Amino acid sequence: MPATPLVSLVDSKTSEIIPPLLGASVTELTAWVQQQGQPAYRGKQLHEWIYQKGVRSLGDISVFSKQWRQELAEIPIGRSSIHHRAVAPDGTIKYLLQLADGQIIETVGIPTDKRLTVCVSTQVGCPMACDFCATGKGGYKRNLGRHEIVDQVLTVQEDFQQRVSHVVFMGMGEPLLNTENVLAALKCLNQDVGIGQRSLTVSTVGIRDRIRQLAEHHLQITLAVSLHAPNQTLREQLIPSARPYPLEDLLAECREYVEITGRRVTFEYILLAGVNDLPEHALELAKCLRGFQSHVNLIPYNPIAEVDYKRPTSDRIQAFVKVLKQQQIAVSVRYSRGLEADAACGQLRASKN
Ligand code: SAH
Repeated sequence: MPATPLVSLVDSKTSEIIPPLLGASVTELTAWVQQQGQPAYRGKQLHEWIYQKGVRSLGDISVFSKQWRQELAEIPIGRSSIHHRAVAPDGTIKYLLQLADGQIIETVGIPTDKRLTVCVSTQVGCPMACDFCATGKGGYKRNLGRHEIVDQVLTVQEDFQQRVSHVVFMGMGEPLLNTENVLAALKCLNQDVGIGQRSLTVSTVGIRDRIRQLAEHHLQITLAVSLHAPNQTLREQLIPSARPYPLEDLLAECREYVEITGRRVTFEYILLAGVNDLPEHALELAKCLRGFQSHVNLIPYNPIAEVDYKRPTSDRIQAFVKVLKQQQIAVSVRYSRGLEADAACGQLRASKN
């Protein structure tokens, strides 16, 4: 008898079956094994083999009977394959992963001291077209499913032979344009893979109403907002998608996020020499954030081929930091890792260069 598909993974609109098991909870998996005429405890075993042992084919689950394994072998778990892998001198590894439909996405594994951080993609490409970002230059294909997001974490865990401690949703794509699958992946990474909510960070350029909607889930994750400019005029130049969403509206929504979740917001600010890195920009930024439970993360620009922005000198970076500190703004500088492997922030473009 062929195995029955997961009831909970049937698309209610089209009644089409969405087969990958990856992303399903232990309750969903238990319901599914019971439909196959198996005892409930098989659900727990299936869960352990998918998430803890990282099995790539259901046919390899040795605790199941031979006959059942044969039936299961054709049912996809939802794992990708590694299409290409590039190791940077600092140990950061960039992966090009091939999905079931042939699309390629990028994922980065970043080892630091005792941590292993994974930078996951949420879309194939990105529609936001930020002027300084390689992903935006390549156009947009589609959203990733929850299994395709979770798979990236399991793949890095398997390749490093080390448990992933942190996940940042800062790869290709805009997470809040794929909120449903991002929320499902966050839940799975927390409850099934076992990563603490506080070790999960979602980075967004800001989509109207979506930050508030995210807040209403009352998660303990970290929200990072890509601000990049202290006023609307400059922000629109760098981020065309910011045009219909004024900076003051975005900041008001971020304040609501803090009120609803009790978590402070991180503001990412890329530093582009001569564009947004002057002391007056720092002062203007401090004014925007006054009285706000926030943290500013400065990201010196990582070069991409299509544009001729420059990374500021370290003196200029330090001068910017100094102004923010004088204004009592919590600030840190993120020197992206993996620069030599084109694995740093903004350099992900699904090519092997
Ligand atoms: N779409 C989301 C997440 C992806 S980008 C967002 O915009 O937040 C993750 C971070 O890398 C963002 O802050 C983004 O602005 C930044 N980034 C993009 N291109 C960059 C570049 N060339 N150098 C440094 N940071 C960059």
